[in-house]
Amino acid sequence: MSVGYEQVTDWIRRFAAVVGERKDELTKLDQAIGDGDHGTNMDRGLRKAVEKLDAVEGEDIGAALKAVGMALVSSVGGAGGPLYGTFFLQAGQTLAGRSELDTDAFAAAVRAGVQGVQARGKAEPQDKTMVDALLPAAEALAEGGDLAGAAARAAAAAEDGMRATIPLVARKGRASYLGERSRGHQDPGATSSALMMKAAAEAFANRS
Ligand code: ADP
Ligand code: MG
Repeated sequence: MSVGYEQVTDWIRRFAAVVGERKDELTKLDQAIGDGDHGTNMDRGLRKAVEKLDAVEGEDIGAALKAVGMALVSSVGGAGGPLYGTFFLQAGQTLAGRSELDTDAFAAAVRAGVQGVQARGKAEPQDKTMVDALLPAAEALAEGGDLAGAAARAAAAAEDGMRATIPLVARKGRASYLGERSRGHQDPGATSSALMMKAAAEAFANRS
């Protein structure tokens, strides 16, 4: 099973919509261990991304994801936005010229996205960052199967990874300045990444 251009852009639209709805929650998480801008940052960046998507012509999934990445990099300051930008630029690069997405292609794209985030931000697993949600999602996708099922498993893995950030001490980003005091709080970036993977599972679900 594979999905087409419409469903891939629906993924981004759903991600933007849920971040808009849960902006305050993301901001609260970032107030606890950061500077309280993650919700507004992501909301602003994803609004721009959707505007860009509306202007993309054709059915090139790679080009669409690159446009999303460019919008995030150029409209969001701080760490989170540019890291998400990198995720989509790298993911988009693996999908250049494609108008369909199957499990292997989605797995490769997410893998490349996470590698980009790690190359740029130098976060390892357990550093209490978005990587703790994204990497388990990439691993779940690598197990294969039909796209709807794989995306659902990836979303569940990202959510588990998100929850598992709570007891961790942050070793990257602003939260790392708090040291031990970062323990006991869920990482905002891991939370938005879990929302991103959930949006993919919803957009790629079999609706027949
Ligand atoms: P800022 O930290 O600049 O205020 P945001 O609040 O938008 O940016 O994003 C914070 C999130 O970014 C964190 O919760 C964490 O998940 C993620 N993050 C920060 N630094 C890194 C890094 N070096 N690698 C991966 N993710 C990071
Ligand atoms: Mg912040």
